[in-house]
Amino acid sequence: MPTRKELSIPQRTIMTPGPTEAEPRVLRAMGAPIIGQFDPAFTDMMNETMQMLRELFQTKNRWAYPIDGTSRAGIEAVLASVIEPGDRVLVPIYGRFGYLLTEIAERYGADVHTIECEWGTVFQPEEIISEMKKVSPKIVAMVHGETSTGRIHPLKEIGEACREQDALFIVDAVATIGGCAVKTDEWNIDAVIGGTQKCLSVPSGMAPITYNDRTAAVIAGRKKVERGIATAADGQMLSDYRPITSNYFDLSQLEDYWSERRLNHHTEATTMLYALREGVRLVLEEGLEERFRRHRRHEKALMAGLSAMGLDLFGDPEAKLPVVTCVQIPQEADGESIRSMLLSQFGIEIASSFGPLQGKIWRIGTMGYSCRKENVLFVLAGLEAVLIRHGVAVKAGEALQAALNIYDHQAATGVLS
Ligand SMILES: *Cc1c(COP(=O)(O)O)cnc(C)c1O
Repeated sequence: MPTRKELSIPQRTIMTPGPTEAEPRVLRAMGAPIIGQFDPAFTDMMNETMQMLRELFQTKNRWAYPIDGTSRAGIEAVLASVIEPGDRVLVPIYGRFGYLLTEIAERYGADVHTIECEWGTVFQPEEIISEMKKVSPKIVAMVHGETSTGRIHPLKEIGEACREQDALFIVDAVATIGGCAVKTDEWNIDAVIGGTQKCLSVPSGMAPITYNDRTAAVIAGRKKVERGIATAADGQMLSDYRPITSNYFDLSQLEDYWSERRLNHHTEATTMLYALREGVRLVLEEGLEERFRRHRRHEKALMAGLSAMGLDLFGDPEAKLPVVTCVQIPQEADGESIRSMLLSQFGIEIASSFGPLQGKIWRIGTMGYSCRKENVLFVLAGLEAVLIRHGVAVKAGEALQAALNIYDHQAATGVLS
């Protein structure tokens, strides 16, 4: 018997590295009526969104617009549009999402070189730069915030080295955008991919990207397909025809849609654009610096609470990603049973992990709208109770006091930590 009950979604507290709880104002914006994608009211909104995205990405780039699809759609659009078969791409891997960059680049025919460091650590910039000298890549692609290991990678030195060697620097900032500083221009990043469902607290389904003239020139240097007809770009011969192999992810066609040319490509995801515009508006209203400070504030309280409970944090503290905290699962404990009781008894979701870290750590996100005092206190209280229920020895009653101490100290002195 098919069920025709009304949709009923349970109340949850989401403390994972995405999707995060959506901003209530974003959800309200999504209830706005649908209008046509060439309606001036809509194209004005497209332009406003582009302008707000430039501020979010801290860039003067002409191109800043969303790709329709989840975050990896943004990654795939950038890589599909710049990679030609045989191009050399260097991917420094320090967690799962480095493998995603590798896989997508390989699918577009790149000659991919990888280096990998132990999960939970990051590279010294010199390690990457010396590999660049060996490989001479056309592109260096890497992750800014690795949600799988809870680490953040410094990018400035690598950006400089890419300019010196004339390589394109492409960065997956899906997890960091809106939660940690992503300084596109200052760090010499040629193309950045963001995500909606993490620190922007917009539902999953769009990937804001930005790229500079260096990237745009690589894209323009290829042969173009315009409205299904091959055209020669830059006076090249059509026999030298090498268009972007994806239609959906062809940034040259998307430029024609997002620029004043307004050539039709796909039907813009109307409601998601309302959501993105509202989400980015909220970020800018809070202020980038204040928003990053808020993320650090709650991170500190969460970390203090977890440590006071007697749990060990995972990974190199120097490279900790402020918006994801990784906790070692106590030796005697069944991590999945604890996670599932946390959900069934408290309605709290935290994340497990992948690959070499599976069964070893939990990952707790403090991202966007989920990153609030009551959520931090609730996850500490819930986790403590569930651990005790599982017979794990914790220092009962310490976690909330430690977190409250951090909040009180911050309130009194304005100093984090
Ligand atoms: C979540 C995430 C992605 C993948 O995003 P999807 O929306 O699932 O496609 C990519 N990179 C990083 C660093 C992420 O954290």
